[in-house]
Amino acid sequence: MGESSRKPDAAPLFVVAGPSGVGKGTVVRQLVSASDRIWLSVSATTRPPRPGEEDGVHYRFVSDAEFDRMVGAGEMLEWATVHRTSRYGTPRQPVLDARSRGLVPLLEIDLDGARQVRRSMPDAVLVFIEPPSMEELEARLRGRGTESEEQILRRLETAALEMAARDEFDVRIVNDDVSRATAEILHVMGLDS
Ligand code: 5GP
Repeated sequence: MGESSRKPDAAPLFVVAGPSGVGKGTVVRQLVSASDRIWLSVSATTRPPRPGEEDGVHYRFVSDAEFDRMVGAGEMLEWATVHRTSRYGTPRQPVLDARSRGLVPLLEIDLDGARQVRRSMPDAVLVFIEPPSMEELEARLRGRGTESEEQILRRLETAALEMAARDEFDVRIVNDDVSRATAEILHVMGLDS
């Protein structure tokens, strides 16, 4: 056997991606409540908070200048402009800290970010969550009622691009049933009981 680039004691890192509206947020919440070994990364973003979103919990809401500073200082593990509007990034240090504490880091990020993580951490496991169909995805996106028509169209455009890249992922899970999708991911993470 060749030498592994993964330290034997380092927990693998998991990335969950998939089109906006596919229910990633719900699956991720279920994963986190199912296992206390999962550590969920809190991204920094330049987008303004939605009602009910809390700084430091859902995202770290930062200014453009602060985002620039973080990128310039090399503090981001990955970052991307999503839906051609706001920037989102994963602060690197908290991920490394969680890993060294034996926790399993989980990142919910976009396709661009997933590709960057693949390059900088080749042992990361990339999980793609897909909708049962594009029609179902559009219905869910509209039903959520949080985006304008223009934002919905932009998200559908991004979704088509993301769906075209699903073969790049290590694991693909169809989210037709949240509990089943969650159980499948826990199994992949080796955290099912
Ligand atoms: P929302 O604005 O709906 O919260 O998120 C929009 C998109 O940004 C989601 O598809 C989500 O996966 C992505 N995203 C959230 N955090 C990050 C991050 O840290 N990095 C990258 N590349 N994408 C992110």
